[in-house]
Amino acid sequence: MTNIEESQDMIRVNGLTRIYGTFTALDNVDLAVRRGEFVTLLGPSGSGKSTLLNLISGMVQATAGTIEIDGHDATNLPTNRRGLGMVFQNYALMPHMTVFENIAFPLQVRRVPRAEIETRVHEVLKLIQLEHVVQRKPKQLSGGQQQRISLARCIVYRPSIILMDEPLGALDKKLREDMQLEIKRLHAELGVTMIYVTHDQEEALAMSDRIVLMRKGRIEQQGAPEALYSRPDTLFPADFLGSSTLSAGGLPAGSRQLDTPHGGLPLPAAREGEPEAGEAVLMVRPESMRLVSEGKEGGWPGLEATLRDSIVLGSYVRHFLDLADGKRVIVQEPSGATRRRPERGAQVRVRWAAEDGRLLPTDPDFKEL
Ligand code: ADP
Ligand code: MG
Repeated sequence: MTNIEESQDMIRVNGLTRIYGTFTALDNVDLAVRRGEFVTLLGPSGSGKSTLLNLISGMVQATAGTIEIDGHDATNLPTNRRGLGMVFQNYALMPHMTVFENIAFPLQVRRVPRAEIETRVHEVLKLIQLEHVVQRKPKQLSGGQQQRISLARCIVYRPSIILMDEPLGALDKKLREDMQLEIKRLHAELGVTMIYVTHDQEEALAMSDRIVLMRKGRIEQQGAPEALYSRPDTLFPADFLGSSTLSAGGLPAGSRQLDTPHGGLPLPAAREGEPEAGEAVLMVRPESMRLVSEGKEGGWPGLEATLRDSIVLGSYVRHFLDLADGKRVIVQEPSGATRRRPERGAQVRVRWAAEDGRLLPTDPDFKEL
């Protein structure tokens, strides 16, 4: 018997594995995606994102494990019977067909009546605000317009699941940001279940209900963007999602201070799963740190540092600092925070609240901290 909780899952994979020769591209992955959820597979190149997506789509066959779509076993179902839409980085539009014909094509294949095809093509063109290009050929369109047409061609047959593999990878930054909003809006309007692949952490943070962070064919950690960003469990998400200031040191048993070459760093109150003694790493996000003037504050005096440079980025300022032992630190403050901004070369102090640090286990892949 299935309970209510279970029936909310649109996709479930269990123990999914893909091996090429002796190389394991995807290693025993479990993942459930809720109906209407926007899930992003994020990770460096080669971490298994496309492999997982292609297994869900049926374009790659599993070595082991199962795939369930909308409550049915889909492990051996052909791609065209999985009820999916797919969008890739290369738009794959048919060059000799007009925009209308390109979008109408998946409906013709499904033998939708002519009059309904007319209505639905114009509906989706309106949705992506490209009604005026209906009679053009793909080569008469910009890259951004072509990508929107390939989106339209995907949503026109109303799939309940859309899979996207780095769909914006070929676009420049400004256009990419516009398209991120467009895809988010379409997702909200259509109520479709979305699995989106990217290696761009900012894109993942901006778009997703949930980020699934992949590393070497496995899921390293998953969660809401905010949770993954501010509460990583390991160094991999700490490092991959935005810049952090990381410091390694020794943690004596029972101590609430990390002994580092730059001095003792205060630690947040202990939490479960945290290293208790031995070598450990403290992560602090740049926006949790502040520059303070000497001697002002009580308690921990902060770290002495030399200001190398400050850059103003609209509403915030990024300070680049060197600690006494040469370690680089980035501090990010709101533009209004320091009324008199210290000059380049100034001696300053860097402070943060102990609770804004995160104590993590060491990792052989992150030696130089
Ligand atoms: P990502 O999309 O995260 O960049 P992929 O899922 O494409 O990574 O690939 C994961 C790993 O599997 C890579 O090391 C890649 O070289 C390997 N791989 C993918 N497809 C094949 C294949 N058809 N044959 C051999 N190795 C493959
Ligand atoms: Mg890929």
